[in-house]
Amino acid sequence: MSSAPTTSSVQAAVRVRPLNTREVRANASECISLIPGTAQVVLGADRAFTFDHVFGADAAQRSVYDKAVAPLTAKFLQGFHATILAYGQTGSGKTFSMGTALDGNIHTEHQGIVPRAVRAIFADLPRLYPSPAAFTVTVSFLELYNEEVVDLLNPPAHRDANPLPFAASSGRARTDSVRIREENGVIVWAGAREEECKTPDEVLSFLAKGSLNRTVGSTDMNMVSSRSHAIFSVTLRLTKVGADGIAERIACKFHFVDLAGSERLKKTHAAGTRAKEGISINAGLLALGNVISALGDETRLERGTAVHVPYRDSKLTRLLQDSLGGNAQTLMLACVSPADSNFQETLNTLKYANRAR
Ligand code: ADP
Ligand code: MG
Repeated sequence: MSSAPTTSSVQAAVRVRPLNTREVRANASECISLIPGTAQVVLGADRAFTFDHVFGADAAQRSVYDKAVAPLTAKFLQGFHATILAYGQTGSGKTFSMGTALDGNIHTEHQGIVPRAVRAIFADLPRLYPSPAAFTVTVSFLELYNEEVVDLLNPPAHRDANPLPFAASSGRARTDSVRIREENGVIVWAGAREEECKTPDEVLSFLAKGSLNRTVGSTDMNMVSSRSHAIFSVTLRLTKVGADGIAERIACKFHFVDLAGSERLKKTHAAGTRAKEGISINAGLLALGNVISALGDETRLERGTAVHVPYRDSKLTRLLQDSLGGNAQTLMLACVSPADSNFQETLNTLKYANRAR
């Protein structure tokens, strides 16, 4: 594959997690390897894939942040939108990498992307924008489940009373409390709760609060698997004084997206409700793949060549529309298991993420 002539605003990274105890006990062997000194992984004997960054089983959380994420944080602080998409099959390390697990007591060294980004943002803001009134930080947290938007910071009351996916279990149509609107090219999440935060700990407390409200369902893969997309979003509003001395008000968004598991339906023997969920989950992932791929074409093709970017094909891509492409910085973080038993899923994930390049 030829490399892009210009730096794409979409970067793709792959992270291979260590074999887990279950895989070790089952004598799984590793089917993916890194090529030292390159950004390549080889799956099986000879399937090579090149990414912008590759992280092996021994890569520290800090190194993932420093190499793949810190550049996005820096752009965000300058006023650009940024989006990180964690993609991969259930159990591949998406939530671990994002750092959105509910374990509040996690050791600093094991903290994932969101806590690191949030702390970096608050550390740098006062230095970059010294006047106390020059910036505000707010957070929102949405979940997409069956093409339905749920506000995790303001969940519907009946959700708490029923641990099952409520739309499916209640059998009645629900109207979303959050509507997606576009105003002058800006995507507005109308009705979504936005909480102002003065400290990184405040941001992380909303992350924890919202995570408690996430829809989870167990499948017969015998693990709790996440069937929904979660979008944690940090909005920075600033007053920036340009070289001409004119003050400009800017709002930029940093989206942290923990995508639904990408595994195929047949592997989980999903049926009924699960099958229905799978279909719409895949619709979001399918649309996202097409958008990412179209953005890559835009970068590769000659300037001025019109490329249709199909944002409207799913709520996921619609919610993220103004933060994917254009001046926005996007990182697709593909998470994979090294076990040979997951070969096919890992291959699918590598192919999917490779479309970003
Ligand atoms: P996903 O969110 O993709 O379903 P998780 O992030 O929950 O997967 O990871 C599944 C399990 O593997 C968790 O117990 C997690 O702590 C562990 N894990 C994932 N990635 C790593 C890693 N890079 N190093 C150590 N443990 C990991
Ligand atoms: Mg997860």
